[in-house]
Amino acid sequence: PAAIEVSHLRKTYGSTIAVDDVSFTVTEGEIFGILGPNGAGKTTTVECAVGLRIPDRGRIRVLGLDPRADREQLHAIVGVQLQASTLPGPLRVGEILRLFRSFYREPADLGELMGTLGLADHRDVYYKSLSGGLKQRLSVALALVGNPRVAVLDEMTTGLDPQARRDTWDLIDGVRDRGVTIVLVTHYMDEAERLCDRVALVDRGRVVAIDTPEGLADRA
Ligand code: ADP
Ligand code: ADP
Repeated sequence: PAAIEVSHLRKTYGSTIAVDDVSFTVTEGEIFGILGPNGAGKTTTVECAVGLRIPDRGRIRVLGLDPRADREQLHAIVGVQLQASTLPGPLRVGEILRLFRSFYREPADLGELMGTLGLADHRDVYYKSLSGGLKQRLSVALALVGNPRVAVLDEMTTGLDPQARRDTWDLIDGVRDRGVTIVLVTHYMDEAERLCDRVALVDRGRVVAIDTPEGLADRA
């Protein structure tokens, strides 16, 4: 069954056409990549696809829900990775997770979540003192703290060293194994190859191809 259906999506900012006639379907349980260069329209696409932005045109369904009509139900089933820099510096890791946990009716178990994401030893560390890799892990944890059925991870390994990237990828395997459908925004082909079942290649607001990572590599 479909987790996300996007058809003929269009979104403009003033005279900029950020997303133009984009269509794709994400299957439940898969990791679906949105791959393309900076400015291609990846973030705008996923923000529209999970109801964070209202498109100019297009039909969106998330597990059958219409983002315009079913905002609250959607909030309960979708988790979105926030940009790390917007998190509150004077709070500790555990405090931030508890705060975000309180926004949800059926949240994840914090001990288990911190264990899965390798944060258990860092729960008393202040956000502003965390390394880049730990900040990324925390932002992934915040996307999962509401126990979502669909999670959006946007450029989750940007700025990480090679070992931290591989560690993050391993953690995402664990999230996939829990049955969470993941939409992964990235501009790294190696990350898409490592994690994604299928990838939409996006360029200048349009979907150029949708294929498995191997299929995309063969086309190139
Ligand atoms: P990507 O995620 O692939 O980098 P974005 O969706 O962020 O692409 O951006 C697509 C285009 O829309 C870019 O030209 C960007 O500058 C523009 N854009 C994105 N967000 C806004 C915004 N809030 N206001 C105006 N222009 C925007
Ligand atoms: P909104 O959803 O109201 O557009 P944002 O916080 O995304 O809110 O953007 C606020 C304003 O900042 C936008 O209307 C735009 O003028 C500018 N802006 C934000 N991101 C971009 C971007 N990537 N490229 C160009 N302008 C942007």
